[in-house]
Amino acid sequence: MTRVAIVGAGVMGCATAWALTARGVDVTVHEQFDLDHDRGSSHGRSRIVRLSYPDPRWVRLARDAMNAWRELEEESGRTLLDLHGIVELVSAPELTSAAGLDACGVEYSWLDADAVRALGAVLPEGWFALFQPEAGIVRADLARHAFLDLAIARGARVEVGQKVEALEDLDADVVVVTSGPWVRELIPDVPVQVTRETLAYFRREGAPGPSIVELDEITRGHGVYSLHDPVHGLKAGVHHGGPEVDPNMDGEPDAESVARVAAWVRDRFPDVDPEPVGAETCLYTSTADGSFVLERRGRTVIGSACSGHGFKFAPVVGRRLAALALD
Ligand SMILES: Cc1cc2nc3c(=O)[nH]c(=O)nc-3n(C[C@H](O)[C@H](O)[C@H](O)COP(=O)(O)OP(=O)(O)OC[C@H]3O[C@@H](n4cnc5c(N)ncnc54)[C@H](O)[C@@H]3O)c2cc1C
Repeated sequence: MTRVAIVGAGVMGCATAWALTARGVDVTVHEQFDLDHDRGSSHGRSRIVRLSYPDPRWVRLARDAMNAWRELEEESGRTLLDLHGIVELVSAPELTSAAGLDACGVEYSWLDADAVRALGAVLPEGWFALFQPEAGIVRADLARHAFLDLAIARGARVEVGQKVEALEDLDADVVVVTSGPWVRELIPDVPVQVTRETLAYFRREGAPGPSIVELDEITRGHGVYSLHDPVHGLKAGVHHGGPEVDPNMDGEPDAESVARVAAWVRDRFPDVDPEPVGAETCLYTSTADGSFVLERRGRTVIGSACSGHGFKFAPVVGRRLAALALD
């Protein structure tokens, strides 16, 4: 039987353990910190899931992932998805995901100011709002444990509190490196940059609302985003707003980013208290174009899937890395 070692118990390592043990593989997961640490990219309660991407390739991959999340819900008996849709607020319709959704036959609608207000937000004068219903949040904390608990039930071993210093140290036939922001310590030529991103929490009462994102005219990507938080109500942040960092260095939330997000919340969410009730940081590991590095080099499989949008793809990334490991 093939023996596989996985470096890192973030969501990508956990998803890979789940996918490999589903194929009867002998798996050991190595994590340098404890399982619920907040020093990497997968901590916290929620992440946006959506089909809405301008590029149809991402729409198709997101659709496969959404189906796989439902399989994981079925298998684990846990509710992981909370879908109330996504609203893209834009100054010009061509900035939206409409083209990608059209290419894949995925439904969406345009909302007027009253309809956006009914969802708890404000549509700026002269702007456009695209609504896609198959979106919302995945419970990040529950998802990681759902993957790992199933893998452990199928025989996977998890070793925590021990940093893998060199891949040669691992007694395995194949090594899967899902070490997130630390990937270049083990594989120096992976083309990624690590940044420390800041996000903040706001008190919102009542039922969960849709994820609401404001698209950036220059990057044509997400500028500021918000999503439901199961404890406080609303979580919001600036996409790609943080400085490049060494993942081993501690870091605090950036006060300017918190102030910028709070001002945005004040302007866009009249029913939400714009006074932040908390803030935290999280690390992006980004490629230049937001694509993922999923490849095999001899005994090593590299799984770097972030750029601030990887979580929603975890079940299909896990299966892809498992397939590479068993190739
Ligand atoms: C602020 C923020 C918001 C985001 N929002 C979204 C969103 O809304 N939707 C979405 O789809 N995605 C989102 N993402 C992206 C998503 O969270 C990441 O793509 C995903 O969490 C990456 O997981 P990972 O397993 O690759 O990395 P990590 O979670 O960082 O896992 C890597 C693990 O490897 C361990 N490790 C590293 N080196 C070693 C070693 N040598 N030995 C042992 N262990 C090691 C680390 O301790 C860590 O636990 C967001 C990310 C951030 C930071």
